[in-house]
Formats: sequence, structure tokens, C-alpha cells
Amino acid sequence: MSSPPASDVSLTHPDRLFWPDEGVTKQTLADYYAAVWHFMAPYLVDRPLALLRLPDGIKSHQRFFQKHGWKGMNSRIEEIADPQDAQSEKLLRISDFDGLVALVQSAALEIHLWGTTTDHWETPDMIIMDLDPGEDVVWSAVIAAALEVKARLEARRLAAFVKTSGGKGLHVVAPLAPKAGWAEAKDFAHSLAESMSADAPEKYLATATKAKRGGHIYIDYLRNGRGSTTVAPYSTRARTGAPVSMPLDWSDLNELGGPAAFTLANVPQRLETRPRDPWGDFFDAAVPLP
Ligand code: ATP
Ligand code: MN
Ligand code: MN
Repeated sequence: MSSPPASDVSLTHPDRLFWPDEGVTKQTLADYYAAVWHFMAPYLVDRPLALLRLPDGIKSHQRFFQKHGWKGMNSRIEEIADPQDAQSEKLLRISDFDGLVALVQSAALEIHLWGTTTDHWETPDMIIMDLDPGEDVVWSAVIAAALEVKARLEARRLAAFVKTSGGKGLHVVAPLAPKAGWAEAKDFAHSLAESMSADAPEKYLATATKAKRGGHIYIDYLRNGRGSTTVAPYSTRARTGAPVSMPLDWSDLNELGGPAAFTLANVPQRLETRPRDPWGDFFDAAVPLP
């Protein structure tokens, strides 16, 4: 494996506790991102970002979900104009490891992304199906739902990759050659969700109505709209245990304990010991939306 990247962005208060129960500090978080950088970078750089910033850590009520810059923001976080909305506030982007360390310095404990790069704003390069289990849904049913999404994507000649959300569910992601626009991508994702719900209404919902969610899995297709964001592969979550959104092999799902089984503490070793990167051919597998 390649050596960890270096950065000259300095961390102020490196001992500040971000996840106090786990003893995870700002420095621990920077070290974690150095360990995963080579795996994470292809999904992270050159995309519009949204940050969940918690300057005083996850126990604090001060949390800011931010798509725009702020006063005193580190200069390694770039401000970029949305070409369709040049008048409005600038969006955020990073292009290298210094940018990621700057996000750590900014207490961005979750990093969320648009499903496209700023080279081709109007044509997404992935479809993201977010599986949101309601109360009383057993974990094996979430895995079954992910496999069902995979089968339906593959039936349309798309490739399917899976990651934990680090929260309650799984994300199934299909790489796209960026040809179709946002409306087409969202329509595609919507109809996939609708067809799953129509075929198994006792299991799946395609609408966000919380009322019926108990016992059901909501197939959240709304991650695919222009400006919507999803947590980045390898991003930490601002939740107890410092869970990580972890890219997996489909065969890993059998032994996966749950959506938060991978954490800042166990991911680096897992990356070193696993035989191959399960998402290694993600971008090579991209084809245009059918
Ligand atoms: P889970 O498995 O628990 O559903 P998740 O990452 O799929 O985890 P959430 O964390 O609930 O789902 O977030 C849903 C989406 O909404 C995320 O993809 C995120 O980009 C966006 N989001 C999160 N927090 C906010 C917020 N405060 N304001 C606006 N959008 C948000
Ligand atoms: Mn979700
Ligand atoms: Mn969701």
C-alpha cells in the first residue's frame, strides 16, 4: 500500500475531543483520514460538498449542516459557483489531502457529497439508493432489500456497489457514465423504488411518509436530485461509536453485524488486510443510464 499522504495544514487544538466516549480527538480523526485517503479520494475530490460541523464534538448541540463557506474558513477548502445559480452563495469543494485535513480542522465530522463532479455538474456519475429501515425491521431484511436493488440495477445493465451508511441502513450505488441529467436520474431511481414497493408493498415503501414506515423499508430515491447530498464513502458519522460509511463487497454482507459495524477504530486495519478494494473498479464499471 502507498504511504500516507502528508499535509502542511496545521491542526489547532489537536487534543480536542470529537467523540468523547471513544477518546477520538481532532488528531485521531486526521490520522484516520490519512489512512483512508487513497481509498476515499476518488469519491471525494472535485465534488460539491455539504459538511456536518460540530466544533465541540458530538455531545454538543452546536451542529451546523453547511453547504456554504463561513468567515475564517481554511483556504484549502475552495469556494465554487454553481453554474446554474451564479448569483447565490458559493458552494464548497476540496481537491487534495490538504483539503481533507482542512475539513478535519473545521470539525466536519460528516462529509456529504453531490453525486457528480464539478467537471460535469448537470450529469450525475452515480445513482444512490438509500435504504432506510423503519422501526421493527430486522437487519437481514435490509440486506435482502440491498440485494433486491442490486438485482434490479443489474437487470438494467448497471453495476451495483454497496456501503454501510454508518447510521441505520445501507446505500446501494450504481456508477454512471455522466450522460443523463438530474431529472432523468431521479426518475430512474424513483421508478426503481416504485417497482419494488409495487411488487412487495408489505416490505417496501417508495414515499417518505413516516406514518407507514414501521415494519417497512423506505427506498429513499431522493438522494438523486440536483443539489441533494449523501454521506461520502469512508466519511465518519457524528454518532456514538464513530461509525464510518464503509464500502463493502456484496459477500461481506453475510457477516456484517449491522450498519454501524465499521468505525474509525477498525476501518484502517480492515483496509490493510482485505485482499482487494471491493469498489476498486467502481468508475470502470460506469455505463450510461439506460
Ligand atoms: P441512515 O442510515 O441513518 O439513514 P443516512 O446517511 O442514509 O443514514 P441521514 O443521515 O438521515 O441518512 O441523512 C439523510 C440525507 O440528508 C443525507 O444524505 C444528508 O446528505 C442529508 N442531510 C443530513 N443532514 C441534513 C441536514 N441537517 N439538513 C439537510 N440535509 C441533511
Ligand atoms: Mn439512509
Ligand atoms: Mn434517507
